[in-house]
Amino acid sequence: MDDRSTKIVATLGPASSDPEVLERLILAGMDVVRLNFSHGTAADHIARAATVREIATKYRRSVAILADLQGPKIRVGKFTDGKVMLEKGASFILDADCQMGNQETVGIDYKELPRDVKPGDVLLLDDGKIVLDAKQVIGNRIITTVRHGGVLSNNKGINKQGGGLTAPPLTSKDIEDIATAVEMKADYLAVSFPKSGADMYMARELMRARGGKSLLIAKIERAEAIPALEEILKASDGIMVARGDLAVEVGDAAVPALQKRMIRMAREMNKLTITATQMMESMITSPVPTRAEVSDVANAVLDGTDAVMLSAESASGKYPVEAVEAMVRICVEADKSMDSDVRIDQDFLNRVFTRIDQSIAMAALFTAYHLKVKAIVSLTQSGSTALWMSRLNAGVPIFALTPEPETFTKLALFRDTRPLLMAQEESGDRDKLLRDAEALLLEQGVVQRGDLIVITVGEPIGKTGGTNTLKIVRVGEH
Ligand code: PGA
Ligand code: MN
Repeated sequence: MDDRSTKIVATLGPASSDPEVLERLILAGMDVVRLNFSHGTAADHIARAATVREIATKYRRSVAILADLQGPKIRVGKFTDGKVMLEKGASFILDADCQMGNQETVGIDYKELPRDVKPGDVLLLDDGKIVLDAKQVIGNRIITTVRHGGVLSNNKGINKQGGGLTAPPLTSKDIEDIATAVEMKADYLAVSFPKSGADMYMARELMRARGGKSLLIAKIERAEAIPALEEILKASDGIMVARGDLAVEVGDAAVPALQKRMIRMAREMNKLTITATQMMESMITSPVPTRAEVSDVANAVLDGTDAVMLSAESASGKYPVEAVEAMVRICVEADKSMDSDVRIDQDFLNRVFTRIDQSIAMAALFTAYHLKVKAIVSLTQSGSTALWMSRLNAGVPIFALTPEPETFTKLALFRDTRPLLMAQEESGDRDKLLRDAEALLLEQGVVQRGDLIVITVGEPIGKTGGTNTLKIVRVGEH
């Protein structure tokens, strides 16, 4: 295990589906694999998830699977020649009835788009590379003038500057993909383009109805999601700062400040965060990142993100393993320069916790601060104590020991948290459980005899939400 607090999510694709590459990615430090349902078949994703789990089990690594739904991304149709070159100042028509596109016109997959657009609106195609000014809407046709031209190829995305597209939150493909995610027991399910808490509740209902237990990640990538951030967070287990689409909708310059605000708000609400898109973009073709990319990853760490993410770099780039290695190197260094925010100041002391388990989790942080312990050890069923502890920067590692395989893999995304899978304690004997925990920590070489550690545990053991005990021990002194 490298000494790292910030987690790494890597998107799988053609460059990273080979078992040999997957093994190298896992050994390099990939904590979460993202299966992008915008590409590939259900069978591809199921096979990749199985291979990842096999390798992770072999090395006793906690690796989570994140299934990322395509969502209602609005796209242009296909062109007779696969693509066209749009010239600045030319007229170009988006036509809901057009089957095959050409130089003058192209189809759109969301037939209601002309209802959402009025003259004066700005449409951004292919992540903003092409900009169209809407001039007129006639029936099912949007007449535009090209402001920024370029090559437009089949199925590129369309966004409207400022937001305001009414496409339904989950498409029929998304609903099928939720079933696939449930089938593969994905640890996390990411919902694309949610605009409200209700969109997230809808996804959760669909997932639950099929028996799924994934934690839900809302991808913040619509202009409308910004004012709705608090209700979206409430309805989710975490968010992704999805900077690709978000930058198109709100303007690229607004994204860095939004990233900081989103991460802060999520942590205050005990939610998880993933910072995504173009983090190591140049590594698609280069074995080393740019200085700007290094700073971007480090700054996301300093913002307090749980994880940084690779997209095309690991899915289809030339250097997937090197990209993970570079992220590891940057995170390790940035983690070191993060100040502990568990200062026993008024902010910490004024917080009120009404749950026993949450109070114990906070008391562990308080104790760790005073006694300068080597580690916090949380014996956890559901992972909630580790989640609460990891929302504040304890400045020491949190070892989360669980007998639950599903908790073990979910914990892979929590910052500061080092998951360890331990045997189920059948006897109900707390002292034996603590001795086993200590033995596991020693065996893994993460603590030494004589180290001071603080442990949280529930009694009777094995009960979810039952953490009620805080114990401070010197390792090996029983
Ligand atoms: P995507 O989401 O990669 O699915 O588009 C991330 C983003 O928009 O940044
Ligand atoms: Mn997106």
